[in-house]
Amino acid sequence: MIFFDAHCDILSAITKPEELFSNNKHWDADRALSNGTFIQVLSLFAEGRNWREIKDKMEAQLARVLLADKNYPERIKIIREKDELSNCVNSFEPHKIGCFIEAEGAEIIGESLAELERLYEAGLRILTLSWNYDNAVCDSVAGNNRHNGLSAFGRQVVEKAEELGIIIDVSHASDKTFSDVAQVSHKPFIASHSNCRSICSHRRNLTDEQIKWIAKSGGVIGINLCPDFLNNSGNAGLADIISHIEHISSLVGTAYVGFGCDFDGIDSLPAGISGVQDMGKIIDILLRLNYKEEDVKNIAGLNFVRLLQDMQ
Ligand SMILES: [Zn+2]
Repeated sequence: MIFFDAHCDILSAITKPEELFSNNKHWDADRALSNGTFIQVLSLFAEGRNWREIKDKMEAQLARVLLADKNYPERIKIIREKDELSNCVNSFEPHKIGCFIEAEGAEIIGESLAELERLYEAGLRILTLSWNYDNAVCDSVAGNNRHNGLSAFGRQVVEKAEELGIIIDVSHASDKTFSDVAQVSHKPFIASHSNCRSICSHRRNLTDEQIKWIAKSGGVIGINLCPDFLNNSGNAGLADIISHIEHISSLVGTAYVGFGCDFDGIDSLPAGISGVQDMGKIIDILLRLNYKEEDVKNIAGLNFVRLLQDMQ
């Protein structure tokens, strides 16, 4: 089985490149690979008082993962090209993880399209427009409605990102930002780590309407394992994860759902999951339910793999 996880915050939780391979947090490459072939989106993420401070921390994380890629080519591959993704998917090397780089917040580009281009060259392939702050590009769902959605600069960023081959990610975006992206984008966009609001009313989750917009664009939704996003009691288990997968599948089909577990970005995990090594448990449940094996493979990883392959 090929696994793809569209969101992980391990880069902000470690200080040395070597810690990527083995640590005692939610996610490390060795445990991810215990599931089988594994493609991981690594998030550049930081909190801070202003965008420059946030950018500096994100740049330090980028430097750390680029160093890991340079020093340990037998253990990690940063994927930039279609062929590199195909290689990772088709030739399983049990100690080598394929990774995409994503930035969780447009703070990393400040107010500069040239920075977006530079970061694309460095390896950035997914841009989550915001974290929990409004920024120069858009409003966050946890922000103060600074621009009423996407700013004028934000519209240019969406256009430039699509031209370069960077996927736009609307997890954390305000509802108005979401609808602006749905209107201005011409390529598939994703919600890398968000669930269904009709099951759990958290504002970080997607309405049915939003799920349909993403599917219509050809994008994919990554299921987040944060207990607060899984059910309204905050005490979640494996059955809650399945409920969100089932809801998206029944609404738009199994082609638009995958995983964006948010390992090391969330404080607690659902009962039954103690880290990335347990992702197989979710797949085992799906296989016991009435899903075709092909659909389960798509959910486990191939929906996101196909999307990334088409974007490049
Ligand atoms: Zn997040």
